[in-house]
Amino acid sequence: MTFSDLWRELEPIGRDPRTGGYRRYSWTPADAACRAWFTRQAQQRGLRVEPDNNGNLWAWWGERRPGAVVTGSHLDSVPDGGGFDGALGVVTALAAVDLLQAKTFYPERPVVLAVFTEEEGARFGVSCLGSRLLTGVFGPDAARGLTDEGGITLAEAMASAGHDPGRIGPRDDLVGGIAAIVELHVEQGRALAPMGAAIGLAEGIWPHGRWRFDFTGRADHAGTTRLADRQDPMLGYARTVLAAREAAAEEGSLATFGRVIAEPNGTNGIASAVHAWLDARAADEDTLTRTVTTIRSSAERSCPQDGVTISVRQESYTPAVRFDPVLRDRLAEVLAATGVNAPVLPTGAGHDAAVLAARVPAAMLFVRNPTGISHSPAEHADLADCEAGVRALAAVLEHLAGPK
Ligand SMILES: [Zn+2]
Repeated sequence: MTFSDLWRELEPIGRDPRTGGYRRYSWTPADAACRAWFTRQAQQRGLRVEPDNNGNLWAWWGERRPGAVVTGSHLDSVPDGGGFDGALGVVTALAAVDLLQAKTFYPERPVVLAVFTEEEGARFGVSCLGSRLLTGVFGPDAARGLTDEGGITLAEAMASAGHDPGRIGPRDDLVGGIAAIVELHVEQGRALAPMGAAIGLAEGIWPHGRWRFDFTGRADHAGTTRLADRQDPMLGYARTVLAAREAAAEEGSLATFGRVIAEPNGTNGIASAVHAWLDARAADEDTLTRTVTTIRSSAERSCPQDGVTISVRQESYTPAVRFDPVLRDRLAEVLAATGVNAPVLPTGAGHDAAVLAARVPAAMLFVRNPTGISHSPAEHADLADCEAGVRALAAVLEHLAGPK
């Protein structure tokens, strides 16, 4: 099948007709339809599909034994996400198998197409949950107790989809059998377009984290309280948002307040408290630390003048991920031999391949995103670039799984 034929089949699944965005949340009917579609496609190509105990799907081309070359991505989405994030890596993997089978290539090492579950963390709040459970960096008990917005636990959601949550846990046998993983993903950002390149290679993933800022003041009447008498936490919050922007511009990092809760959130009242979450990312850990320290000290300096107290707590932190430089150089050579010059790019977004990079040689291919927009229905990649991605991935798989 061509890339377009495959794409057309998957495209309508889990798409909201009003927004045009995808709502493919794990362990929902849309997710089940995506899994069924992938399983059918893999089986039609003679691959053996084996779901693991964490809900990830593994489709084996060749006997199951160590030395496997893994490719794939995820089929879940953020709320009203785009159609390419994750899905492009899965569809491209199937189309790459078609290209290789058409030239009667048969892998000497098994090629495995993987679909990781709950990559976005859109339903249960933990990103890359499937790959974190697989590698054991997230514990089974904590996972089973995760709840979605409706209070349904992951254990309940898995059980109602026919999977036994009692079996969740690390799989050293699977991870230990992987010789390399190469995940193809739509570019999330706009670096390739100005370079005139359809395909890029990942250098690494920026260290990133989330910090919670609590500004505490005093609730009061918006119409009767003199300005001088107020303890308004919104002021400190507003200055901190501006300080974050300034610090990020100064350091060449990224700092975003995208989520905020005001209490009691009334129009005619001064807020008693403002809770805000900072997402910060930078090319290296020192720069990230400097960025967050600058923002934090600015908040600590400015809040007392309003009679407001401030406390800051780190909620999560992911250190820098370096993809395997030897594998990346090999892929660059393979691509160059097919006439593809793939620039090496850093990225600020997390991926399953990055979780696995701690244990096995990992690499990523990016397909040009002409606008850079992602996590939105406007996310896009041109058909010709997707097809270039299929050819690039096929060449990489042929090299890694072919005769040495
Ligand atoms: Zn993704």
